[in-house]
Amino acid sequence: MSQIKILPTGLSNKIAAGEVIERPASVVKELIENSIDAGSTEIGIDILYSGKHLIRVSDNGTGMDREDALLCFERHATSKLSSECDLFNIKTMGFRGEALSSIASVSRVKLITGRKNPLPAGKGTTGEEGVYVEIIGGEVKEIKDSPAVGTSVEVRDLFFNTPARKKFLKSNSTELFHIIDTVTREALSHWRIAFRLLSDNRETMDVPVSSGSKERIMQIYGGEFLDGLTGVNAAAGGIKLSAYVTKGDNFRNMKSHQLIFINGRPVKDHSVSHAVYRAYDGILPRDKHPIFFIFIDIDPGKVDFNVHPAKREVRFQDKESVYRLVMDSIRETVKGERAEFVKQFTEISEADFSGQRSDAYQASISSPPASGGPMVSENSELAYKPSLPFIYLGETFIAVSGRGGLTLIDHHAAHERILYEKFLKGISLNSHHLLF
Ligand code: ADP
Ligand code: MG
Repeated sequence: MSQIKILPTGLSNKIAAGEVIERPASVVKELIENSIDAGSTEIGIDILYSGKHLIRVSDNGTGMDREDALLCFERHATSKLSSECDLFNIKTMGFRGEALSSIASVSRVKLITGRKNPLPAGKGTTGEEGVYVEIIGGEVKEIKDSPAVGTSVEVRDLFFNTPARKKFLKSNSTELFHIIDTVTREALSHWRIAFRLLSDNRETMDVPVSSGSKERIMQIYGGEFLDGLTGVNAAAGGIKLSAYVTKGDNFRNMKSHQLIFINGRPVKDHSVSHAVYRAYDGILPRDKHPIFFIFIDIDPGKVDFNVHPAKREVRFQDKESVYRLVMDSIRETVKGERAEFVKQFTEISEADFSGQRSDAYQASISSPPASGGPMVSENSELAYKPSLPFIYLGETFIAVSGRGGLTLIDHHAAHERILYEKFLKGISLNSHHLLF
């Protein structure tokens, strides 16, 4: 007797949902990407209890008619692909036709949507038509008319019918972190769209339409954060790169703020990350990490997006060219910028630690706190009162607070550096030409 059976649709949908919908943030990602594909200029995200109770994504995009509002929950139902050849020329965020069917099979979904019906002479939309669809665990429970323009998808009680999966959900703070991270990534690569995120009715993010990725980075992280980055623009062989990367010594102890976008799609790509690290060869201190926001635009025919069910990875046709462009252009910018940074640092060092004050400075560096004394001591006993406040940290380092934050200086090395710079410039040094 045959051992093999075809799985019932409900079960196969749940299995498929496992690949696409891992946690509340996956739902947020899929719904936002649908709103982006629908040409929205405003996307609102509401969540309750870190998305475990409710996720609602509303947009002002094209909306759907009644027929599509039902079809969209079918497995492999998509308006974005129609032939195999489209699969290798993907210009939309979605294409697999799996997200809504997956979400609907593991939660309680309410969809309200209505087509935008343009009126003559740009007089807005009618908003008279629209439909409401309620689906619980993949089964349609209600369909009725409901006037709407754009789309709102409400997802409640995620994994209510898959308790084993629900158990894998993490704490509210972890799930909220993933949601904020997801919205941030989508917002960074879609700066023409306004995003608003409410978590438990509190505003967590509110970014209006912006003029470009630079302004979007500023809207999200602030001007001071942006000041620590340098812009890189380059293009070669049909690949366009725009990036914002660590300036000066703005490195981190952790791999935070390292984001890569290919054609607006947030992805993880080991090779692109590696190229950025290579660009900082010789500059990056050990155990430190650069910040990078990499936006790559490439002919969709030269990249395969159909690699990961949640579309988190891509495969480049010519990985080497992408690698080279990223590494070379960032390296060039960073090298130029680095020379300027060293020049400025040297000028500050000379102004503060040399000249008339050099005797006092000499005295200060030759009498660091005795070992065995307190590790951190105020230098109030020093004759020299520097313009920048500083304190000793043990015997090796001094900490200086300045405009850009806190700088730790190995004062022996700094002294040697100052002498070296003086030597290079021939300042107050008597040199003799030796015979040999
Ligand atoms: P995919 O995005 O891969 O096509 P989905 O399951 O996410 O698959 O969505 C199925 C279809 O439903 C989409 O192709 C689109 O036509 C429609 N749809 C989904 N969300 C929206 C939305 N917010 N606005 C308009 N149409 C939508
Ligand atoms: Mg989709």
